[in-house]
Amino acid sequence: MRSLALVVGFLGLALPAVVSANLPNNKAVPGGVAIVPLSSSEETPPTVTYNGRSVLVTKTDDGWSAVVGIGLSAEIGEHRLKVNGKPTAFEVQDKQYAEQRLTISNRRQVNPSPEDLERIGSERTRIRAALETYSEAASPEALRFAIPVEGRRSSPFGLRRFFNDQPRNPHSGLDIAAPTGTPIHAPASGTVVETGDFFFNGKSVFIDHGHGLVTMYCHMDSIDVAVGDRVELGQFIGTVGATGRVTGPHLHWSVALNGNLVDPELFID
Ligand SMILES: [Zn+2]
Repeated sequence: MRSLALVVGFLGLALPAVVSANLPNNKAVPGGVAIVPLSSSEETPPTVTYNGRSVLVTKTDDGWSAVVGIGLSAEIGEHRLKVNGKPTAFEVQDKQYAEQRLTISNRRQVNPSPEDLERIGSERTRIRAALETYSEAASPEALRFAIPVEGRRSSPFGLRRFFNDQPRNPHSGLDIAAPTGTPIHAPASGTVVETGDFFFNGKSVFIDHGHGLVTMYCHMDSIDVAVGDRVELGQFIGTVGATGRVTGPHLHWSVALNGNLVDPELFID
């Protein structure tokens, strides 16, 4: 940093208003993250909610900021936080995500049977509950993540998908292609809050990093942690596989913030 400061000083340039290295990228779009300064000089962080959910608040150079996860289906335009009960507005900009068409030969996974639908419904409840975890006790040690698996990023977050020409939900995570058995490492410290073998997501692990920041790992071949385990940055949690609805082995990695699934790439370098 010293050499950078010297260079900048020498050139007589002002340092740009860079976001702290410990924050996700500020991208107020559907499926993105808004970093909203809170103009509060209090010692204790203000209480912030968005659509009725608690929001992560962190200390930045300018004081407190809310780090808000925006849902993929969010409307463009003005959104409101409640900061200590008072409204604070921020703007959500448009973003057009690319389109993807997939052919899936296992028809049962495209048009599930009634029994499958019952299973899928109860699993969805468990998955939502895990993704909506908000633990007050431990604040996240970092709001930047390490890459959980080395590999090609085969499918980005937000793709508008069609399976056998039927429209499906947009892609709610980042896919990283890697052979079955490739180790997966925790991208930050946290606590395992759920594991399971789900119809669509296959073998999955959910890590709560604190204050509404939760990560999910899907289609795993093996799960090597259990609910309640504390994991540290870089800890082995299991291996890449092809369980659930997949066309080949890969890690589907999702990041939830205040219950909304957001682009994992905003948290990595
Ligand atoms: Zn995926």
